[in-house]
Amino acid sequence: MPHPFIPYGRQSVSEADIEAVCAVLRSDWLTQGPTLPRFEAGVAARCGAAHAVAVNSATSALHLACLALGLGPGDTLWTSPNTFVASANCARYCGALVDFVDIDPKSYNLCPVALERKLERAAQTGSLPKVLVPVHFSGQPCAMERIAELAAAYGVRVVEDASHAIGASYQEEPVGNCRYSDLTVFSFHPVKIVTTGEGGMLLTQSPELNERLVRLRSHGITRDPALMEGEPDGDWYYQQLELGFNYRMTDLQAALGLSQLERLEEFVERRRLLAERYRELLEGLPLVLPWQASEARSAWHLFVVRLDPERARLTRRQLFDQLRQAGVGVNVHYQPVHTQPYYRRLGFAPGMFPQAEAYYAQALTLPLYPGLEEAQQDRVVGLVREALS
Ligand SMILES: *Cc1c(COP(=O)(O)O)cnc(C)c1O
Repeated sequence: MPHPFIPYGRQSVSEADIEAVCAVLRSDWLTQGPTLPRFEAGVAARCGAAHAVAVNSATSALHLACLALGLGPGDTLWTSPNTFVASANCARYCGALVDFVDIDPKSYNLCPVALERKLERAAQTGSLPKVLVPVHFSGQPCAMERIAELAAAYGVRVVEDASHAIGASYQEEPVGNCRYSDLTVFSFHPVKIVTTGEGGMLLTQSPELNERLVRLRSHGITRDPALMEGEPDGDWYYQQLELGFNYRMTDLQAALGLSQLERLEEFVERRRLLAERYRELLEGLPLVLPWQASEARSAWHLFVVRLDPERARLTRRQLFDQLRQAGVGVNVHYQPVHTQPYYRRLGFAPGMFPQAEAYYAQALTLPLYPGLEEAQQDRVVGLVREALS
């Protein structure tokens, strides 16, 4: 009998999760009802943030983050080239420019040294960015203390794209507490650590940013008389103060998220255990295994290995194809964003961010998710061993 396909990532939905969603379906509120603020409060408390604003995706969250920080035409946002396109696209939605800071070849995260040099040059040419988006790639937190120091020195606002990193910690504190940023964004897409089907969240310590995000999430409308221009006509009255969107999360999604949040520690612990197991089982092969910062604990969204071209007798492409043919859903994260046709049309070209490009040429993501059984993991490792021996 053929083995069932093993994906690179997969949600873990329990009976309790299903019950929680069904309870909302039987209730009076399907969207933005009483469950949404409970989910927001749950994540805020878990992460040590004063405010949390749930939205319908991390992409929407990144867009609102840019708007709330005043990013617009004439401004620039910098991010890592080793990320999903959404980390850069959010600036384009606001009519702003995008540029990239190359990665550190060890952590695969935005490199603080490259950032320092690029900021120095930009200061001289009057082209400093307004917003910087470090991405906690694979769940491994960026060097946030240094990044925040540099950002503060040059007056740059910081948005952490923590789509991979709910449940991770940095300097013994949870990612999401915004100690080193203005805002942190989480994704609840099914392959991420915690899911709501589709969904995202913004965390901040700032009451002003929170107020702005809540308004932008729902058409730019407020029902709070204190925020209105003039007096309300009556209880039905609302005002649209600016141009916002419908980026609301439903209560169905919030119920799933709230129920999943109870298993966050379990999810991350299981991922950590499997990552440790990969590390032991892959020892001695011509692969570069994930590096871990001493001051951080990864949420282990992805387990990425790099094929050492000096020692391996086949290419990444061949290894990828062999594993896929054997029913293992290996993947590649990420094609450097600046090499996408859309970004090439904006003037970017291969060669501009050599570390991200060199990393991409060798990278392979192995399956990692809480429901991955050890026997399945053994099978993946066996196939990798066979291909590389
Ligand atoms: C998944 C992801 C996003 C987008 O998340 P959605 O919730 O699917 O919009 C943004 N940034 C990174 C790094 C991601 O991995």
